[in-house]
Amino acid sequence: MDFSNLNKKASDSFYKQRNMLKQLAQGKTLKCEKCNGVLTLDLATSESGKGLVKCKKGCTDIALELGA
Ligand SMILES: [Zn+2]
Repeated sequence: MDFSNLNKKASDSFYKQRNMLKQLAQGKTLKCEKCNGVLTLDLATSESGKGLVKCKKGCTDIALELGA
């Protein structure tokens, strides 16, 4: 098994998520890759310091670390 490839994928995903958070924080509209619905940033999560990016249908549901 090639772990370097696995790590690269995880890293790509990490930067992608940070980029999403950045864009949402700037008030930009992002769309779900699957349903093309508008993504919203929900800061009212039970865990402090985390935000939830999700679409209406729920196919995108990503917990992001805020202020990272
Ligand atoms: Zn969706």
